[in-house]
Amino acid sequence: MIPESLKEEVYNCIKCGLCVNSCPVYKQLLFEGASPRGKVQLIKKILEGDLEPSENFHLLLFTCLLCETCTVQCPSGLKVDRLMKAMRAEMLEKFGLAWQKRVLFHLLSGRHLLPFFLFWGRNLGNPLLSLLPRKGRLGTIPYGKLPRLNPRPLRKQYPEKIPASEPAGRVLYFTGCATQYLFENVGHSVIAVLKRLGVEVLIPPDQVCCGLPIFLSGARKTALQNMRKNLEIFSREDVDAR
Ligand code: SF4
Ligand code: SF4
Repeated sequence: MIPESLKEEVYNCIKCGLCVNSCPVYKQLLFEGASPRGKVQLIKKILEGDLEPSENFHLLLFTCLLCETCTVQCPSGLKVDRLMKAMRAEMLEKFGLAWQKRVLFHLLSGRHLLPFFLFWGRNLGNPLLSLLPRKGRLGTIPYGKLPRLNPRPLRKQYPEKIPASEPAGRVLYFTGCATQYLFENVGHSVIAVLKRLGVEVLIPPDQVCCGLPIFLSGARKTALQNMRKNLEIFSREDVDAR
């Protein structure tokens, strides 16, 4: 359900177009329906019951990068990105999720399947990536810029508790999937800085994906399960920061 306050916002759009030229999606696609203004007007018609949401509208909704540029530009204070997110959730019942997303979100919601698949991805995918031609692209990303999986997941490289001799504090560290599986250098740096500051670092091993990719696809109930799981783990009272 879209909150009433958000629904009301569509009437604040004065169609000034200030959001249009700053939208990176509009700059590429160059038609009104791809612009924030166009999407807001389509959403307004759908909410009023004058327009049946079509497959095309659903596709348009997912062209939005949720970058918030339009929201920042809007003189009427429309939270365009929030409207898009809410509409994605609203459309879930009618259009469902693509099978690729269903598989991915299933992996991201569990604790065991993702590490299993990434183990094979690391051992098979990383060597394969280095065999790809330098000039090729996957979508718009050059092969050379595709991220390699960490040689070992970050949380496997550290104990659950990294002690400090005279602790200046105690921190619970949520690594997130990107640091855990792709950008271990970020995690190493965070831990090194905290150690340097004399802070004890606790890295809960059973933390799960934050659920953001799931939430942004509109599957809010599934995302909520991940959020609840992490909240349980990170609600400890015996730490100074999380
Ligand atoms: S949030 Fe979406 S509609 Fe707004 S500027 Fe970014 S891509 Fe365009
Ligand atoms: S900037 Fe705001 S008011 Fe102007 S067209 Fe875009 S959404 Fe509507």
